Amino acid sequence: MSRALVDVRILQREYLLAISRAMTAELDLHDLLRLILKSAVELVAGQAGIIALSENGIDPLRVAAVYGIPPHLVDHFAPLVRGIPYREGQEGDVFPEMRDQLSKIAREANLGLSQVIRLPLSIGGNVIGLIYVFQSGNYYFVEDAPNLLRSFAEQAAITVRNAKLYQQVIQEKQRLDAILEQSADGVMILDSHLRITVFNKTLSHMTGWPAAEAIGRTHNEVIDWIALKSDSDLQSALDNNWPMLNSAHLYVEGEARRHRDSSCESDRSTINLGITYAAMMDTDGRMTNIIASVRDLTRYREEEALQKTFISVISHELKTPVSIIKGYAGTLRRPDGKWSPEVLDESLSVIEEEADNLNSLIDNLLEASRLQAGTFTLEMSDEVNISRLSELVIRRFAPQNEQHQMQTDFPDDFPSVIGDERRLTQVLNNLISNAIKYSPDGGKITISGQIYPEHVTVSVRDEGIGIPARDQSRIFQKFSRLDNALSRKTEGTGLGLYLSRAIIEAHNGRIWLQSNSDIEPGARGTTFTFSLPRG
Ligand code: ATP
Ligand code: MG
Repeated sequence: MSRALVDVRILQREYLLAISRAMTAELDLHDLLRLILKSAVELVAGQAGIIALSENGIDPLRVAAVYGIPPHLVDHFAPLVRGIPYREGQEGDVFPEMRDQLSKIAREANLGLSQVIRLPLSIGGNVIGLIYVFQSGNYYFVEDAPNLLRSFAEQAAITVRNAKLYQQVIQEKQRLDAILEQSADGVMILDSHLRITVFNKTLSHMTGWPAAEAIGRTHNEVIDWIALKSDSDLQSALDNNWPMLNSAHLYVEGEARRHRDSSCESDRSTINLGITYAAMMDTDGRMTNIIASVRDLTRYREEEALQKTFISVISHELKTPVSIIKGYAGTLRRPDGKWSPEVLDESLSVIEEEADNLNSLIDNLLEASRLQAGTFTLEMSDEVNISRLSELVIRRFAPQNEQHQMQTDFPDDFPSVIGDERRLTQVLNNLISNAIKYSPDGGKITISGQIYPEHVTVSVRDEGIGIPARDQSRIFQKFSRLDNALSRKTEGTGLGLYLSRAIIEAHNGRIWLQSNSDIEPGARGTTFTFSLPRG
């Protein structure tokens, strides 16, 4: 081997070393191809070069990297790149057809290039591109140039393949990330130290933890169990050698503390979660990751609790009037009893009253079930006079309520509304009976009307025990009764306000409440108001 060739081989090694270093450092295909091309051209003492690639091995070749050719002249080389397809064996040095093509281009572009070497870039026998090195007529390529270039062609092919694989991996990862992020289940991925590495949007909503804050924390910091329904949690399962089988899943269910996140509107402080953990193992049987899919069971638990409340409330509320009626009827029927007309009258009126109670309770239940079934419809009539209805309701309640001063305050021109008279009476009944029930020390109860251009409002104001701000949104829910001494003493199912709201909203109105102390400092009690559109 000549001395010069030995030097070139050493140089070739150095270039290839530099290229492989660059390949591990950066994965930008374009930059790497340029580096490979530049090294190749320099090594064989060429003047310029082109790497042309086909997107998928089928599409026509396109210039992917250029060296030593001014950018505005690159287009001139397109016919060369596209025009003479590569055929097996046609590699290395010049052949006439290509040389002719080159001299035509060189003339047009005013470049003094007249020699060319071309080598294929192939992956697994499949030609995906070509590397060209050009030289002007006055110089010579180094000895054995095509062979020297072969390793650069190989490098370029490997680079292209790596870049494609990398791109595929990235795309695959983006697809997986998108699936995880959009999943309706909460998903998190833990590393082998139980640190959170992935935390999706659904899980953020459920737990109140923003993903950015949860990632990097340990599982137990974020999933903070208060009470477990299942036998063990993740930690104790791991202590007991879970996962023993590669495919074994672990299910943990219970109540957990919800993270207080100021940006989140939910006011719940706990959540019921069901978590399925799946362990990922490496080939040596070591756990590498745990994938946890998390379900929010709070709604199911609430439904369950509601069912229980329903049964206990209903049985209690139905039993009370029935046992009173039975008691009075039984007493009156006693063969040895001789009852004065007054006692008879009083007893019968208690029976009548309790029968009325039963009736309205059954009505409420039927209405609630109609609402749930979506078969709730209004029976509208033209002229509902709310002022007159209020008087009637007050008159009905007055005899049993000497401690309350009940009054109405409606402007004379208070307009009639279009609505369902029976249902609107039910709303007034409930608001006024609540005002009475929840002001045990008496006081004034005022039903007033206000007129606005588009709607009217009706308010029921009492001077009773009031409703703490934190409970105000809750009391409109089905079966919701506040836990205070009075609720335990008074009768009620907690359906009144739930139905009232449904009725008012079906009329396209709204119902809300205010604490009287928010309107005038120091005042006791509550004001409930509903609005109805004017006919
Ligand atoms: P029902 O109306 O079905 O017989 P209820 O009166 O208990 O039963 P709602 O009318 O829905 O049910 O009221 C829900 C709860 O809201 C009540 O149990 C009570 O705790 C509270 N509440 C309602 N109105 C008032 C009020 N005017 N003052 C204080 N608390 C009230
Ligand atoms: Mg009520």
